[in-house]
Amino acid sequence: MVNTTIAGKETPATKTPVCGASESQFQICNPGCLTCKRLSSVFVFGAASSQVASSSHVANSIDQSPPPRKLHRDMFEIGKRLGEGKFGRVYLAKHRESGYICALKVLTKSEIEFEGAETHVRREIEIHTHLRHPGILGFYGWFHDSRHIYLILEYAAGGELYKVLKRVGYFSERRAAKYITQITMSLLYLHGKNIMHRDMKPENILIGLRGELKLADFGYSVHAPGNRRTTFCGTLDYLPPEMVRHEESYTMAVDQWTLGVLAYEFLVGKPPFDDDVDMTYTRIIERDMKPLPYYISAEAHDFVESVRIPPSRPYLHFAQSYT
Ligand code: ATP
Ligand code: MG
Repeated sequence: MVNTTIAGKETPATKTPVCGASESQFQICNPGCLTCKRLSSVFVFGAASSQVASSSHVANSIDQSPPPRKLHRDMFEIGKRLGEGKFGRVYLAKHRESGYICALKVLTKSEIEFEGAETHVRREIEIHTHLRHPGILGFYGWFHDSRHIYLILEYAAGGELYKVLKRVGYFSERRAAKYITQITMSLLYLHGKNIMHRDMKPENILIGLRGELKLADFGYSVHAPGNRRTTFCGTLDYLPPEMVRHEESYTMAVDQWTLGVLAYEFLVGKPPFDDDVDMTYTRIIERDMKPLPYYISAEAHDFVESVRIPPSRPYLHFAQSYT
């Protein structure tokens, strides 16, 4: 399986970062923005955490309460390592005062600087801060010290979907359909906010306490109101032909293609263009998907095939036929 993450240089978003209380409208804020820092810390750890119904509600409670204390590392008890990423590690952690269990993604500033990935990390924070959906890993806040940046994330107790898939080999159609439906709902939410994920893969899909899927890792995501991008990024096995060909700009349909790749991988256990690097490129460009096994139903075949042809939007078709 070709599983190298490919980083592309992206020009910074042209939209000037602004911060707003309204969640219905996607607005990017600067990581240095105090309002957002306060919002996110109150969201999890403050007294208002159970009443958070809307951002304006939170904003009102903030106006009436003293500003929350600045977050720092010693406020957390750090537990076992949950995983490793490009610029650091992810740990299980407990907020000492509230006892709240979370995951702490600890990024090392020197590694980020060495890779020239400041914009990349800034964008991950900016985008993830603005997402609230049951199918998307919760982002509760962030802080930094001289050496590290800490992202406070919802703890996904079930771990990576990738590990589960490796353990069981492949999923039944029913289970694959359930998972695809959940990812579809998360994608509809993201796309509704003009965000492309661009790095969906089983490693970036986590499992919550009740077995529900949580889309994670917004490191390659982008807010694209014009629905056109050109950067080559993501993980080869999951990239669509329009990106691999480097010829044209692409749209939100890149995630839709990946949905089809994921459906295939869930049913078979391996992605559909899995080969050596050169052949994987060729296969993707030629849309030369390996055939699905004979025992896979006509409906699942139909879904995997149809999702390969952008810009169709077969999300609900699949959801309706299986649930
Ligand atoms: P990469 O680019 O290699 O995917 P990354 O730096 O973006 O890495 P993540 O994908 O966010 O890092 O996290 C790395 C791994 O840590 C995940 O694949 C997962 O195994 C684990 N992990 C991350 N966040 C959580 C979480 N909230 N709960 C449980 N495990 C997590
Ligand atoms: Mg990841």
